[in-house]
Amino acid sequence: MSWESSALYYRLVNEGVRDRLGGLHSAVCVMGSVDFAEIERLQVSGEWTQAGELLADEARGLVAAGAECVVLCTNTMHKVAPTIENAVDVPLIHLVDVTAAAVKEAGLRRVALLGTRFTMEESFYRDRMAAYGVDTMVPDADERTVVNDVIYDELVVGVVDDAARAAYRRIIDRLAHAGAEGVILGCTEIELLIAQDDSPVPVFASTALHAEAAVDFALSSA
Ligand code: GLU
Repeated sequence: MSWESSALYYRLVNEGVRDRLGGLHSAVCVMGSVDFAEIERLQVSGEWTQAGELLADEARGLVAAGAECVVLCTNTMHKVAPTIENAVDVPLIHLVDVTAAAVKEAGLRRVALLGTRFTMEESFYRDRMAAYGVDTMVPDADERTVVNDVIYDELVVGVVDDAARAAYRRIIDRLAHAGAEGVILGCTEIELLIAQDDSPVPVFASTALHAEAAVDFALSSA
């Protein structure tokens, strides 16, 4: 949703298509790129209906431009995924479904969830994971503030620094000691900061998993 993670998605879907089809192949896609300042304002003021409508309009535009599936490039805004699903008659590849499937495939049942305050504290994400039999643990209140602030103050504006990485590593370590068998990087910018080497337990990188699912869908239906 910030262009920092949109750019990562764009790279990943193109690399995915190139790796599978070879040669000069790249992804045929259309991107609706929004003003993140407006989205963040709607989030903070709790205007989720309006945010959903804004994104539903974007999705309609993408389908009119030829899109055969829609990928919403943010964990947080999956809070309004039903509004988008109702607005278009092509599939929305749901990020939580894709991530839950990866956790289950790894044979894990209890994972830590790092993301924005909305993702960690509201029910839309955790309930959907629970429907797959995956329990999510979230950081404690102080840790959630750190995780959230690094996203909005640093990662979405392209700041990736060692202090933030160290703070995330400490939080992941604590959650792993408290019983998390894996950790979901449940915000599409976190994987700009954190990789598998930063965690003692498997990481589930939502952007990479989601982009791969989009490539799978597109190439299997092509
Ligand atoms: N991209 C982030 C996410 O995956 C946060 C920014 C947003 O609110 O969309 O949740």
